[in-house]
Amino acid sequence: MHSQDYDRLYLSPPHLGRHELNYLHKAIEDNWVAPVGPNLDGFERDVCEFTGVAHAVALTSGTAAIHLGLRLLGVGPGDEVLCPSFTFVATANPITYLGATPVFIDSEAQTWNMCPERLREALEDLRRQNRRPRALILVHLYGMPCRLREILAVATEFEVPVLEDAAEALGSTYEGRPLGSFGAVGVFSFNGNKILTTSGGGMLVTNNAAWAKKALSWATQARDAAPHYQHSELGYNYRLSNLLAGIGRGQMGLLADRVKKRREIYAWYQNKLRDLPGLSFGPAEPAGGRSNRWLSCLLLDPAQTSVTPDQLRLHLETHNVESRPLWKPLHLQPLFAGLPLYGGAVCTDLFTRGLCLPSGSAMTDTDLRRVAAAVRALFPA
Ligand SMILES: *Cc1c(COP(=O)(O)O)cnc(C)c1O
Repeated sequence: MHSQDYDRLYLSPPHLGRHELNYLHKAIEDNWVAPVGPNLDGFERDVCEFTGVAHAVALTSGTAAIHLGLRLLGVGPGDEVLCPSFTFVATANPITYLGATPVFIDSEAQTWNMCPERLREALEDLRRQNRRPRALILVHLYGMPCRLREILAVATEFEVPVLEDAAEALGSTYEGRPLGSFGAVGVFSFNGNKILTTSGGGMLVTNNAAWAKKALSWATQARDAAPHYQHSELGYNYRLSNLLAGIGRGQMGLLADRVKKRREIYAWYQNKLRDLPGLSFGPAEPAGGRSNRWLSCLLLDPAQTSVTPDQLRLHLETHNVESRPLWKPLHLQPLFAGLPLYGGAVCTDLFTRGLCLPSGSAMTDTDLRRVAAAVRALFPA
């Protein structure tokens, strides 16, 4: 199929507002198409203002931001980096780009994010072997804050710097503070299916001015201060275009509204489907945490229902409704076979029992009712 299917309910399609086009128009009129421009400054300023972090660097993707962020934390060949197993592969790939190795940590059942006890276990075990991980990556999966207080306490105790992968968690908060602002480096994604999008894009945030400068330099081929092309360091072509940054500025103005809508969608599903035996919704907010509910996820309990996630997914497909399994744990990925792992049973169980439902902020009541009716049809009346 070559055109968009207008009857199909997608998982999390882009949702543009009224101002993105103004920023694009202005950029084209003023010839700010490449390689710099006021939209980049404006987009970075918007993200700084929203997160309360001092510096932001707009990049081509969240993955690029993780790559540069890990390099800022000093990750290099032979290092080990702690990382949740339950996440999208883009969290861990940059560890490998840098010649380092991921050490995977299991989730806990409430937030589905990194378990502080498993983390402590890992750090104690590694310490006994004189292995000090170079960094710890935290993820707030599906926008749900991880148990930040406990985890940051462990990270501080073992002196491991934290990179916060808030790719899915823009607009979520913990103890009133925006996620992405807790790590030494924070990362956001503006990929096509995230809560806000620039079609593709990412942002690195940090309170360290020298690091922000370094990240910007690495993102633009690490050119030395000379009239000719001179390079002392390895760089990349990771800078976001001023055009896409214009879309980002328009999108940032809509964030509060988009979070509100995604939270309403989650509550609506939960409310309308809570009576179905063996079906529940998750993850749940930790004390002090508030999720943007990027995707609405359900779990099926095989002890209470014979309906499986795969059955439900294929059934929804017959109604032209897109749904998707939860992230497949990284320790189960062929790409990462045989790497160190602490725990693993919790996220494996979630993966086996879960499914993500359409959660786009442009969904209408009719759309929601269509999904709920299709889900319900698979359960005994
Ligand atoms: C989307 C995502 C990324 C990567 O972001 P891109 O902009 O797609 O490169 C990283 N981590 C998580 C958890 C994500 O969901």
